[in-house]
Amino acid sequence: MKKYHLFTPGPVNVATNLRMAISKPDICHREPDFDALLVSIEQKILSLFQIKKRNEFRAVVITGSGTAANEAMLSSVVGTGNVLILSNGEFGDRLHKTSLIHNPDTHLIEVPWGQPFDLQIIETYLIKHKIDVIAMVHHETCSGMLNQLEQTGALAKTHGALFIVDGVSSIGAEPVDMESCNIAFCSSSSSKAIGSYPGLSFVIGREKQFQKLKFHKAKSTYLNLATFYEFLTSRSQTPNTPAVPLFFALEQALTNILTEGVVNRHATIRRRAHDLRKGMRKLNLEFLIDEQDMCSALTTVRVPGLIDVATLQSRLRESAIIIYAGKGCFKGKVFQVGNIGEITDLDIVFFLQALQKALIDLMIDGNATVIPIRETNSMLKPATHNYLDLEPIAS
Ligand SMILES: *Cc1c(COP(=O)(O)O)cnc(C)c1O
Repeated sequence: MKKYHLFTPGPVNVATNLRMAISKPDICHREPDFDALLVSIEQKILSLFQIKKRNEFRAVVITGSGTAANEAMLSSVVGTGNVLILSNGEFGDRLHKTSLIHNPDTHLIEVPWGQPFDLQIIETYLIKHKIDVIAMVHHETCSGMLNQLEQTGALAKTHGALFIVDGVSSIGAEPVDMESCNIAFCSSSSSKAIGSYPGLSFVIGREKQFQKLKFHKAKSTYLNLATFYEFLTSRSQTPNTPAVPLFFALEQALTNILTEGVVNRHATIRRRAHDLRKGMRKLNLEFLIDEQDMCSALTTVRVPGLIDVATLQSRLRESAIIIYAGKGCFKGKVFQVGNIGEITDLDIVFFLQALQKALIDLMIDGNATVIPIRETNSMLKPATHNYLDLEPIAS
């Protein structure tokens, strides 16, 4: 089978040692082997978040993708209180839809996709309404925008609300300070910037808040955080059968991050984003939002002129490169390039050359007026590798 280069916001190309980890010998999840594995993963999650007061935080691991962790938070934390969802994109919308199922009176502040929130509007809303829980996406993956955790967390604190965060696409790439941002619970998944296989997610939260969950009436059986917490603290296990091989892989992925160093890993991802963005700018491509507002895991690129994203994707697929198409109101208008998982500097050069070639080909195919490519001959000459030399446009 072809080896694809996944330049997506997840899934990712996994490290070789994860492939080894996932095929470890079989264990029983009701045996001490699994208890120890879960303890190790939890400790590593606390380290990934660079938690200072480690005895005040816990993390539960859920067999289910990122959505499972978000639904666990929204169904377990709100109780009979009022929840406010802040949405500026597809994943904010998903939080809202999920919350409505469990909390029919969910409040919503919505701004157009790709726009930042106006903190003044949020504050005014909190003054007018009694809100117990505020939920927000950290990295709104549909636009690549990082939302303001610190300011929103401060507002939540001032107004006596719990702050819960969907960190599915940012954790592993960007720091999230649970303590200074006043976050009660934060979700993430195994298969994005943490770099493991899809299928697991987790919720990290304050122990004090986990303890309070048992006072809420259960709204879900499988995704009840109170039950996860009970099994974690009483026997270091999960309530139901966990996907054990994925736990082995997640543990290895976390070990890889901690071995590199959390700060170094963030810097590595940021540097790759920088290299990709620099190369794409040289191709005269423009980005959806300002670079200072972007998460370092992902770049959202405006589709030039009449280029069809599906055609661009299939051209890149011929070079074994996978990118993401825009969704919702961004469909056809943007494509997205991720830079997480096992990506080398050489892969980035390969990607940029393939992208340039695809754009040139599409231009020759009849869209000549719409892709002004600058510096065609001088750009992207890798210093040491030239394994994919480009043909000149006019030949
Ligand atoms: C991908 C993503 C999700 C959903 O995760 P799944 O693993 O597909 O369930 C939720 N929130 C954000 C911000 C995401 O990027």
